[in-house]
Amino acid sequence: MTNILVTAAFASAHNKLLDAGREEERHFLLSTLTTAFDEVEKRQPGADRARWVNNRIDQDVERNFTNNPGSQQVSCKKGCSSCCRILVHVTSDEADLLAEKVAAEGIPVDIETLRRQATYGGEEDWVNRPNAETSCIFLSNLGTCKIYNDRPSACRKYFVVSPAIDCDKEGNFAGSVLVWSVPEAEAVACATLNLSTETDSLPKMLLKRLMPANT
Ligand code: SF4
Repeated sequence: MTNILVTAAFASAHNKLLDAGREEERHFLLSTLTTAFDEVEKRQPGADRARWVNNRIDQDVERNFTNNPGSQQVSCKKGCSSCCRILVHVTSDEADLLAEKVAAEGIPVDIETLRRQATYGGEEDWVNRPNAETSCIFLSNLGTCKIYNDRPSACRKYFVVSPAIDCDKEGNFAGSVLVWSVPEAEAVACATLNLSTETDSLPKMLLKRLMPANT
């Protein structure tokens, strides 16, 4: 995987198979990455490619959840939104899609919050701030996502199997949760990560699209 950016979940799955000497499964995992690169590369960058990737991830997740009994341990539920208060990265394709959706559907965006959050640092900075400062600008008062159908791949493929209460950084959060990852979905996210012009935090990337003169 030299010189290829991969998601943390993909790297973790790969390294576990490597350490366990499960070479056949490791090669299969790497082949999903090659296939994903081929598929994503065929598409024009931008909002449409983000839609295609989202659709592809949904299919991979659904198939995995149908075929893998272990997925029943996933504890994520509608309205449980602790993961909407941590750092979310988006690609340039996804930022284009979000900006398009905001404009087309007239979704109100709190620009001051976006500006403030765009100054935050990496994961640790987001985790160490109170929830009130880090709530995603698309999170509703009911704990639901205002752009659910077009939410970024980082949100779309993120599931935990540890108790949901452990995800709350103002509650039981102990610095880590147990993640359920779907290899094919991670592979397509890795391909997009490498084939996009830019990746950064959701606030930084969206601000650039909505307020280009001020960034
Ligand atoms: S985009 Fe939606 S799902 Fe993702 S962090 Fe924001 S509110 Fe949560």
